[in-house]
Amino acid sequence: MPEDRPAVMRDPQKLLAAIVESSDDVILSKDLEGVITSWNLGAERIYGYTAEEAIGRNVSMLVPPGYEDDTAELMARTRRGERIEHYETRRRTRDGRIREMSLTISPIHDDEGRIVGASTIARDITERVLEETRWRHLSEVGRAISEATRTDDLLKTLARALVGDLADYCLTYSFDGEAISRVGTAHADPGLDARVARLLELPSATLSDQSGVGAAIRVGRPMLTRKISEEDLRAAASNDMLFELMRSLEPVSSIILPLIARGRTIGALSLVTTTRSYRRYGERDLALGQEIAERAALALDNIRLFEEAQAEVALRKEAEDRLRRRYAHLRILYELTAAVERAESLEDVYAVVLDGLTDALDVARSGIMLQDDGGSLRFAAWRNLSDRYRRIAEQQWSWNSNYPETVPLLISDLENDRILPEELRSAALAEKIRGLGIFPLGYGGTLVGRFMLYLDEPRELAAEEIDLVRAITGTIGFAILRMRDAQNVRDSRDEAERASAAKSQFLGMMSHELRTPLNAVLGYAELLLLETRGPINESQREQLERIQASARHQLELVDELLTYTRLEAGREEPRLMRIDAGRVVLDAAEFVRPQAEEKGLDLVVDLPDEPMEITTDPARLRQIAINLAANATKYTDEGKVEISSKMEDGSFTLKVHDTGPGIPPEKLDYIFEPFTRVDESNTRQTTGSGLGLAIARRLANLLGGELAVKSEPGRGSTFTLHLPASGPATRARAAD
Ligand code: ADP
Repeated sequence: MPEDRPAVMRDPQKLLAAIVESSDDVILSKDLEGVITSWNLGAERIYGYTAEEAIGRNVSMLVPPGYEDDTAELMARTRRGERIEHYETRRRTRDGRIREMSLTISPIHDDEGRIVGASTIARDITERVLEETRWRHLSEVGRAISEATRTDDLLKTLARALVGDLADYCLTYSFDGEAISRVGTAHADPGLDARVARLLELPSATLSDQSGVGAAIRVGRPMLTRKISEEDLRAAASNDMLFELMRSLEPVSSIILPLIARGRTIGALSLVTTTRSYRRYGERDLALGQEIAERAALALDNIRLFEEAQAEVALRKEAEDRLRRRYAHLRILYELTAAVERAESLEDVYAVVLDGLTDALDVARSGIMLQDDGGSLRFAAWRNLSDRYRRIAEQQWSWNSNYPETVPLLISDLENDRILPEELRSAALAEKIRGLGIFPLGYGGTLVGRFMLYLDEPRELAAEEIDLVRAITGTIGFAILRMRDAQNVRDSRDEAERASAAKSQFLGMMSHELRTPLNAVLGYAELLLLETRGPINESQREQLERIQASARHQLELVDELLTYTRLEAGREEPRLMRIDAGRVVLDAAEFVRPQAEEKGLDLVVDLPDEPMEITTDPARLRQIAINLAANATKYTDEGKVEISSKMEDGSFTLKVHDTGPGIPPEKLDYIFEPFTRVDESNTRQTTGSGLGLAIARRLANLLGGELAVKSEPGRGSTFTLHLPASGPATRARAAD
């Protein structure tokens, strides 16, 4: 129903004019000089000029500084008949605000087809551009964040990423809870970069500042300064130099943003515009800045956590290393102890130590120097030392030097050392030795040498390393001394055995040589007494009998000597048989009875009624019993001698008790040694060889038993013999 349509709808001209008027976009036309010829409501709304104000004026009034050239270019292209679509540029509104615009410009032709002007349709894309900028900044911040692994790096990159559209220059700060430090600086104008960077050298903001970064960090809130005045600058600058520097950057507007993560302020950003852009920050910039600050703070916090974790990992690694070294230390100590235990030679011990140290301490060179008989130090073992160095070291190290021998001497850097003799020091340096540890080698106060540790790099030895080496040197010292002792013992035992063999041989020979002439003496005396060569008178008989008695006594002594020698040489074997031990004891008692009676002693014999059956060598048992009974009789002047015997628990016991002088306690151990007598004085009352008890004890041992004594001076002595009733166990005497 076209008739019903309003007039405007029926007139295409008017319809078009109505559409133009109602459009949200700017629609205007201008002539080739740029003089505005039409201006719609959209243009008025966006640019702020009414149609009356605008028409007749040049479009250049809309062009912000810096965009003149591109406007001229656009006009030129239009004149050539070009259509320009979606050209993005900036325009200035009546009140001076800058808008982002997308222009589509078409040439206007007259009836003859000549270009007489241009129409412009312009869309305000400020929001979109802002949004884009916002995203670009956020993504740049994101990139800076993702690339940085250190707090400082992040703050530097961040400053760089924020200059440009968002700020003319930018500063980033870190804050550790006490001090604020400038970290990153950047200026959009590369020529001014260095000037901003100079801020890094000037005193930083402090928490007590009344304005600026210090104040923003203190209160923990962002601060927007739309128009920076000179007073603002003065308040923010803590000194003249800072003020001058800041003023020279010509700041216009600023936003300071504290960086807050998990409730803690950890830094700040300050974004500043200058006369470079004349841009003034507003709420929207503040919101964007806050978003950036939040992300940056989060990233910064992550880096801190990461750094803390790294530190933790480093700590753990260090702890693991320490454990590993400890383990190596324990292992070498263990191996060393085991090696010392089974070592056949010291060389085995040295090898374990020198090789083990390479592992445990990472020290490839070491050496053991021992003191030789001449008092010089000689290398007994070493690893990785040249012949030349060892020769010089042996010449230069003297045992009786001034170095303290009880504590290690540590030289952490030979280059700066003044302790070593110069020749030795330069030899060591030539050997590429840079550090030295000299440890005393010994055990229990006896020093035998030095343990040397050579370091390839100058360094201090750690306490645990020193402890290890000291433990090692103690063990080596012990091993050395033990081996030396063992050698000494072996040497002296060999010597003793040789001497003993010689003595036995000598005694055996001498006894024989003594016996033969004595037997001759006795034989001839006997012949004389028998008067085979003629009669003898009474006094001659008496003297001959004395000769005979003396010779017999001497023969007894020689026999004792022979017996002892054979026992000592292990040449005696018991002749075992089953006997009544009581009979042997009675026999021995009867043997000494004449002497006892002569001295007026009471001889008491106490035996059980039943026979005492034992397996033994009766001749040897008799000799033991006689020796004990004879001693008791010999050394007792009054009182009694009591000989008793019994069987108990498969053991035969003989006790010989007397009321004689007794034996001093300190002599008790010695009386069983050969040739020892308690009374060694020249005036001694009794005669004897000092062999009787030595023989008795050895015979007791030969029979598988024991002979012991108890005595107190003045209260007599008791000798006790124990013998196993079943005889001596089979003895492997050869192994003794
Ligand atoms: P000797 O030939 O001197 O008697 P012994 O070996 O038989 O040698 O005895 C060693 C020493 O032990 C004697 O010299 C004596 O001093 C001391 N002695 C041994 N038996 C007795 C005893 N019954 N009473 C006191 N002293 C004794």
